[in-house]
Order: sequence, then C-alpha cells, then structure tokens
Amino acid sequence: MYTSPVREAILGLKAYVPGKSIAEIKEKYGLTQVIKMASNENPLGTSPLVCEAVQRAAASSFRYPQGGNPRLTAALGRWHKVAPERIVVGNGSDEIIDLLLRVLLVPGKHSLACFSPCFSIYPIQGHICGVEVRRQPLREDFSFDFEALLSLVDDSTRLVFVTTPDNPSGYCPPRAEVEHLAAELARRAPDCLLVVDEAYMDFVEDGEADERQSSLLAGGCLPDNVAILRTFSKSWGLAGLRLGYAVLPEALAQYCWRARLPFSVNLLAEEAGLAALEDMAFREATLRTVREGRQYLSRELAAAGCTVWPSAANFVMFRLPEGAEASACVDALLRGGLIIRPLNSYDLPQHLRVSVGTPEENARFISLLRDFLGESR
Ligand SMILES: *Cc1c(COP(=O)(O)O)cnc(C)c1O
Repeated sequence: MYTSPVREAILGLKAYVPGKSIAEIKEKYGLTQVIKMASNENPLGTSPLVCEAVQRAAASSFRYPQGGNPRLTAALGRWHKVAPERIVVGNGSDEIIDLLLRVLLVPGKHSLACFSPCFSIYPIQGHICGVEVRRQPLREDFSFDFEALLSLVDDSTRLVFVTTPDNPSGYCPPRAEVEHLAAELARRAPDCLLVVDEAYMDFVEDGEADERQSSLLAGGCLPDNVAILRTFSKSWGLAGLRLGYAVLPEALAQYCWRARLPFSVNLLAEEAGLAALEDMAFREATLRTVREGRQYLSRELAAAGCTVWPSAANFVMFRLPEGAEASACVDALLRGGLIIRPLNSYDLPQHLRVSVGTPEENARFISLLRDFLGESR
C-alpha cells in the first residue's frame, strides 16, 4: 500500500492562508454582491490598456513565451534605470522568493532571518526548502529593530528578508536605516544577501519625493549585497495573472535564470505587464485613490474608537475598541457581504487588516463596522 511518505518538513507544514474569495462568500452566505478588501488588490481593477493587450494576445496562447522574457526585462530596466541583465521576472514575486532560497541556501546547512510577524511566504518557503528560519520579534509599535535582526545573522545565514512598507502593519522605515542594515551585513556577513521586499513601495505618501526617501531603488546606486522585490499584483492590478520581479546582483540574476522553470511567466502575463507600464493615467488614478482612501479609513477607524497603525501601503491595520472581538467583527462583515483580513496567521488574533477600496467600498466598510460596534456595545 502506498502511504505518501512525504519529507518531514512537509508533514508539519502550515499552508499559506489567502484572503477569502468573493465566490466563496457569495455561496456561503447566499449573497449576490460581495466586496473584497482582504488581499490588497487594486481598488480600480485592471487597466483598460491591459485588458486590450491580453485580448490581443489571447489568440497566441498556443505559443510558448519568448525565453528569458527579454521585452519585459528591458521595459523594467528602463522603468527603474537599472541594467536589464539584473532583472529576473517570476510567477509573482512569491516565485522569486522561492527561487532565491533554492539557488542560495543548502538544506540542513544554511539559515535565513526575518521578522516576526512578517509576510508568511518567507518562513513557509524556507521551511519547505529545509533551512533554519530565524525570527526577530518586531518592536511593540511594529517598527524594525535592525540591530536585533543583525544579531541573528552568523556564517550560516544567506538571506535576510525585510518588507518595506511592511505587511501587515504598513510601517515604512527610512531608506537610510535600510542602507545602514545593508552596510552592516556586508561588513559582518559578506555571504548574506539582504532581500528588500518593496511590494507596496508605490503607495508611499507624495509619490516620487517620498519614494526617494524610502526605496533603495530610488537611491541611485543599489548596495551590491541587496536584492529588491517588486510585484505587479498590487499597484499595477495584475494579481490574478501572477507577475513579479527582482532587481539582483547581475551574477546572481544569471544563476536565477538558469534555475527558474523555463516558462513560469506566461505569455498573457508578459503582455499585461508591458501594457501596464504604458498606462500612466491608470497608475496615477490608482495611487491617488489609495492615498485618499487610506487617509479616509485611518481617520474613520480612529473616530470609531479603533487603534490604527500609520500605513504607507494600500491597507490599514487596526484593533477594535476594548470589548469587541476581532473574529466576531470579521463574521459580521462577511454576513454584510464584505471581506477583510483577520491576522491569525500572523499570530495577531485581535488585529485586523483592511485593504483600501473605492470611496464607495470604504464607506460601506465603515458603515458595517459601525453597525457591528453599535451592536456589541
Ligand atoms: C502581496 C505581496 C507580495 C506579492 O506577491 P506576488 O506573488 O507577486 O503576488 C510580495 N510580498 C509581500 C510582502 C506582499 O504582501
């Protein structure tokens, strides 16, 4: 009899917990209209230019994409003003995280370091790859103690993960602090790569001026022990097509291309990414909607008595007033047809995260939340 004798790392595995889907909630609660504010997707949907490009490319679906996605890496090189040879694209930035682990870390020998809580893909994929995962708790206010993170690093450590702005808190450390971390790592652990996950960097306040304050990519010259992760899932509105990328040290990028599954970025995703980079009107509308919505949500949540953490991203983390239960709130909102994100999987059972929606969606969320708080008083 076959007993599926999987590796020990898989036996004890906790799977990634995604936000609930609209279809799932419609069916479960018998609803016809459901709003999803759970997975930090683009409130404006998909760019019309992207939809046209995907439709145009659909008839070519029988073709393999071009090996190495050269048009896309060239466009991204222009966008970030870096050599295209440094760019690796993947099936979401999740694939790049996995790729870096497999290319750089030997199972049973190497370790990675990250904060706790953090984006759960880093520890989950680390665990699957059979490497030691070292975790430094965030400060009480969810800011980063980089000195403490550095103290976890030794000769076995090959990757350090930092998310900025952070998920789920929205905290964004100043660029100078991240640069200092990179310099200290270079000095103390020259074989260790700092992975800076900038999935939400586009949403920092005031656009370009603030991005220069916050993003390592906007600093002009990237330290040579740093990798930057970016994604098309959030500000570009392509979560369902799966497209992310990294800017890497050039030699490492070339090894990653060799190790990557040949066609992990499919033909439609490639065309969509190229079209998205051309639609500046959609991009600007997205950033405006998110920054205004974030302000509105933060203000209204605080007015309703919640504790709200300052966010530089397209979501807001909050806690309910004393006496109100987070899980009961999530359920009440679901019955009202609105999905937000409980943070149990981040070990924060009383914290909640809501993604910025359209102005109408944001107002609906606040109204349902007020109803819930009124009833539980
Ligand atoms: C959403 C998110 C990503 C993006 O993942 P994709 O695989 O590109 O969809 C990466 N990092 C963080 C911290 C995220 O929240």
